[in-house]
Amino acid sequence: MTAQLIDGNLLSQQLRADVARRAAALTAKGKQPGLAVILVGADPASQVYVRNKVKACEDNGLYSLLEKYEETLTEAELLARIDALNNDPKINGILVQMPLPKHIDPHKVIEAISPRKDVDGYSVLSAGELLTGLPGFRPCTPYGCMKLIESTGTSLKGKHAVVIGRSNTVGKPMALLLLQANATVTICHSGTTDIGHHTRQADVVVVATGRRNTLTADMIKPGAIVIDVGINRDDNGKLCGDVDFANAKEVAGHITPVPGGVGPMTITMLLVNTVEAAEREL
Ligand code: NAP
Repeated sequence: MTAQLIDGNLLSQQLRADVARRAAALTAKGKQPGLAVILVGADPASQVYVRNKVKACEDNGLYSLLEKYEETLTEAELLARIDALNNDPKINGILVQMPLPKHIDPHKVIEAISPRKDVDGYSVLSAGELLTGLPGFRPCTPYGCMKLIESTGTSLKGKHAVVIGRSNTVGKPMALLLLQANATVTICHSGTTDIGHHTRQADVVVVATGRRNTLTADMIKPGAIVIDVGINRDDNGKLCGDVDFANAKEVAGHITPVPGGVGPMTITMLLVNTVEAAEREL
């Protein structure tokens, strides 16, 4: 293997130690940081995600409140719960696990969360703060990707970064964070004619499509940093990303594995945002 592995588990451990220290300092002042996690319905993947988020809070000294509701919960009932949590002094961050049942408008729900508690960074205000370079909550997955890139010790100034994927939660905020770090940024998507043409010139490639083998070894500039956000299953049911890891690692300079790369960082940055939300309230 040529590439150095970027270990998301190790970096997460380091960042979570800092979260735990900050949480303990807040708790000593009677202000333990608290995260409310709301799950509507019984989607099995969502159940795992919320369990992991609650466990990460408990492991690092944050208060967590898990609220599970039946699929039949109405939009009005959910909005009323968010309103109550907005006014609950024990809660600094509110996370509503997506996807929501079809009868609930996710935009309405996200916008109902107080901007002071939008630790997922999904609201229009948080997106605007990112766009304009104002301080605010950054969406956890791209924020974690930035930390992974930083951990390689590479300065992004003057580098060419390509993001594949343009979702509001990953691709677009990722591109804005890279831009803020002075990279020159290209965004590719399903309408891009020749993605390899762009990625072969890239010093950094972040792939977030949810499609296996979106990035193959022949599309990578030797020595590039490759960050794989995707979560897929291969033909044997094994977890894999969007990058052809086995071959890409022979060309890239640094690469994240799946699992053990971006995944743990997403929860870690949620903890970071929640502690920051609590610190802002001091
Ligand atoms: P999404 O909302 O489905 O967006 C996927 C994006 O990829 C879209 O912009 C789409 O383009 C683009 N795309 C799809 N197929 C493509 C192709 N063949 N070539 C180029 N672009 C293509 O997904 P998402 O929420 O951003 O998530 C992406 C992946 O990351 C998923 O596998 C998801 O499970 C994973 N994820 C992981 C974490 C983590 O913590 N590890 C967190 C979030 C997401 P168009 O806009 O043109 O349709």
